[in-house]
Amino acid sequence: MKIHFLKYYKFGFTFFISVFSIMSLNSFVTKKQNLPNFIIIFADDLGYGDLGCYGNPTIKTPHLDKMASEGQKWTQFYVADPVCTPSRAGLLTGRYPIRNGMTSKKRAVLFPDSNKGLPNSEITIAEVLKQKNYRTAMIGKWHLGHLKEFLPGNHGFDYYYGIPYSNDMNLIKDSPNYRKFSEDPNWIANPMNYNVPLIENYKEIERPVDQFTITKRYTEKAIDFIKEKNKDPFFLYLAHSLPHVPLFADPKTIGTSKRGLYGDVIEEIDWSVGKIIQTLKDLNIDGNTIVLFTSDNGPWLSFKTHGGSAGPLKAGKGTTFEGGQRVPAIFWGPGNIKPKVVSELGSTLDVINTFASLSDTKIPNDRKLDGFDLSNVLIKGEKSPRNEFYYWTRASLNAVRVGKWKLHIKQLDKINYSLPYKLKSPELYDVESDISESYNLANKHSEIVKNLRIKLKNHLSEFSDNLPDNLASRISKDSNRHPDNLK
Ligand code: MG
Repeated sequence: MKIHFLKYYKFGFTFFISVFSIMSLNSFVTKKQNLPNFIIIFADDLGYGDLGCYGNPTIKTPHLDKMASEGQKWTQFYVADPVCTPSRAGLLTGRYPIRNGMTSKKRAVLFPDSNKGLPNSEITIAEVLKQKNYRTAMIGKWHLGHLKEFLPGNHGFDYYYGIPYSNDMNLIKDSPNYRKFSEDPNWIANPMNYNVPLIENYKEIERPVDQFTITKRYTEKAIDFIKEKNKDPFFLYLAHSLPHVPLFADPKTIGTSKRGLYGDVIEEIDWSVGKIIQTLKDLNIDGNTIVLFTSDNGPWLSFKTHGGSAGPLKAGKGTTFEGGQRVPAIFWGPGNIKPKVVSELGSTLDVINTFASLSDTKIPNDRKLDGFDLSNVLIKGEKSPRNEFYYWTRASLNAVRVGKWKLHIKQLDKINYSLPYKLKSPELYDVESDISESYNLANKHSEIVKNLRIKLKNHLSEFSDNLPDNLASRISKDSNRHPDNLK
């Protein structure tokens, strides 16, 4: 038995805790005799149908396609919420945003005037990996609180370089309305119209940030971080600001994709993925690194050609239809990830459990987590342990999926993010046979509707009647503690 010491630096306090680690190392770690590095590449508003390997006919993504053929391509992978802030909170904590405070009835995401962020009591993937002294970096869009106490440095990351909220925020008064131009697939906004800061650690270093070069600069910083000479393993969370509107790409690449500016943006992200993979190969650490590529939510369809495509899925960002929450997900790790197309359920909520398992670290045991450990699917190709998923948005539980059945009981009437859709009565879909949620079977299968309603009721009963009006205004009772207790 070994004793590991974990340091937490939060609000100026240092906490030392000891974690007893049993020697039940999984096959991955045992085989390699050292701990795996982890990279999460997170795109913003990239839809299920925006990559070549997920069926896009005109956007070229050769590096991601290669990752998918060498690794695992998941076809039923869900994000914790269909918009930015809560989705990211779900990824990093493994908890539905209704538990971690990052959802509310009034506001779907944090804005530049928000004075809250991801509560300090939440434990992130970075903090879990700190048990084994991982080097950690967050590069890109954070969107979990722009005030100092909420920035990545206070959530387990050693280094931060990026923008603190979305690239369309802080629009300078009287700037042209982006929506008016979104029918022209090649129209380009002026980045000077968005007073968005670029931050390094806690310091603002550029404002407004030059968004034309942002993907390239994130990539360079990510490569610098990977190349740092250090014996410790690393965790890199690279969250691109794009293809969230307004769209920008390196001027040298603009006009090269058949899909217009949106295609240019995705192809630059694919270029970035290729550079990172090549760096891992050059350093001969590709056999000891797990890379996950996925997106925070579905496409922002109301921006027409400047939004992405959900492929065959219904609706997009902001909705609890499949187009809002089912995203591309590729796990890559040569020699470790068993190549496969996985057509079972998975979620960003599962990443923290999975990485903890692969690194022999512990997840918190003083609170409810909503994830499953997918490591045996990744390494051995076993069946996914996840068989259900709850669809939350804006502090509202809208739908549940168990196996192939999805019951949808609510949908927001006014949807800023997507095409309008009226849900008049509960809708039941077999989402394996009917990927587009086109054929409502509620009348035919009343028993299944009844059982799924019970699932929804039981899940909802875990929360108080007063679901939060504002972000971080009321968080569930179990997270009101400092993360100094890992099981
Ligand atoms: Mg997003």
